[in-house]
Amino acid sequence: MEKWDALVVGGGFYGLYLAEVLAARVPRVLLCEQAGDLMQRASYVNQARVHNGYHYPRSVLTALRSRVNFPRFVAEFRLAVRSDFEKLYAIARQTSKVTAEQFAEGMRRIGAAIEPASRPIRTLFDLSLVEEVFRVQECAFDAAILKRLMTDRVQRAGVTVRLNTSVERLWPQPSGAIRVRLAAQEVMAGSVVCCSYAQTNGVAAASGLPVIPLKHELAEMALVEVPKAVRGLGVTVMDGPFFSCMPFPPRGLHTLSHVRYTPHGHWYDGLPGEPHAPAYEVFALADRRSAFPHMVRDAARYLPALIACEYRDSLWDVKTVLPRSETDDSRPILFRPDHGIPNYHVVMGGKIDNVYDVADEMAKRLGWESPIGSEAA
Ligand SMILES: Cc1cc2nc3c(=O)[nH]c(=O)nc-3n(C[C@H](O)[C@H](O)[C@H](O)COP(=O)(O)OP(=O)(O)OC[C@H]3O[C@@H](n4cnc5c(N)ncnc54)[C@H](O)[C@@H]3O)c2cc1C
Repeated sequence: MEKWDALVVGGGFYGLYLAEVLAARVPRVLLCEQAGDLMQRASYVNQARVHNGYHYPRSVLTALRSRVNFPRFVAEFRLAVRSDFEKLYAIARQTSKVTAEQFAEGMRRIGAAIEPASRPIRTLFDLSLVEEVFRVQECAFDAAILKRLMTDRVQRAGVTVRLNTSVERLWPQPSGAIRVRLAAQEVMAGSVVCCSYAQTNGVAAASGLPVIPLKHELAEMALVEVPKAVRGLGVTVMDGPFFSCMPFPPRGLHTLSHVRYTPHGHWYDGLPGEPHAPAYEVFALADRRSAFPHMVRDAARYLPALIACEYRDSLWDVKTVLPRSETDDSRPILFRPDHGIPNYHVVMGGKIDNVYDVADEMAKRLGWESPIGSEAA
């Protein structure tokens, strides 16, 4: 039987990043990805926003952590970061959970740059529905470039990557090692780090380990060609049932997502009385009729030029959050060391830049000497 020092489940951004980190500590690291390619799920299917705090006016901790992680991410992944657009946060007059004043004050308090948008930009908005428009400092990342960077990095770190290799079940061994059943073979691993995001509970459920309470949403983002007036912009209307229109660099288009219409349904996993529902299986069965017409009609009320968006396609995936995020829209990390058995560690980051918090927490909780996660890799 093959022996590995560490086995990582999932070849998304988290799995790749943590595999590299592990490879700096132990010699034989195996990363198993069930799909035929890396970074094809949530690490590709997302709004591509490198968060800098603005999106979380109701969760000071998440906003602050975003502020801390933003410069680190931008410096480390500068080749994948796009900042060649003007980023705007507009505050709706009605049903917003924050006022413009509260928003601006909150952002100043966490040190996030913010200023009123210029007059020509303001005139793009329907100011009877929008109280204020702010120009802020936020970026987008190109998931295709990020994938190339991370693929090179894990290769250089000596990580063995196996595609089309699903991790199915674990058995603890008296030595502390873990026997792992992959699709076509069994291997032995000193530790297993699960980075399977929407499928966080899959391996645990199959192995008789505790299932962690999670909320899953079937999410759609429309990919659109925006009209000229909006082309150099990334727009988010806050804070409630509104929308975002963000550049999506890998396709040269924008994503249009809407708090009301992007989720096409949700389900819970691991709550008392709720059986474990494998996320990708639910996803595969879901009806995927686009809600783009609803998204664009509502978004154009606030930013009328958007009515001329041309629909190209939709990106669909499962968005997974902790149930507590429902109330304050926070994005805490999930890190469960020794989950159910020794040396089985489960992580889930609610957003891309949280990888630093996960890496630092792993270093702290597993007693590693220095924080892991190199800024200058
Ligand atoms: C609609 C949407 C919008 C978002 N917008 C943003 C945003 O703007 N900014 C931001 O920072 N974050 C955003 N996020 C969150 C962000 O995308 C995730 O936090 C991040 O991508 C998670 O990375 P990951 O590697 O954990 O997950 P994934 O990229 O999903 O990777 C998990 C991998 O595990 C594999 N896998 C699953 N089960 C197994 C198994 N049993 N064996 C082997 N492999 C397995 C999967 O195939 C997959 O490749 C968004 C998410 C969604 C869904």
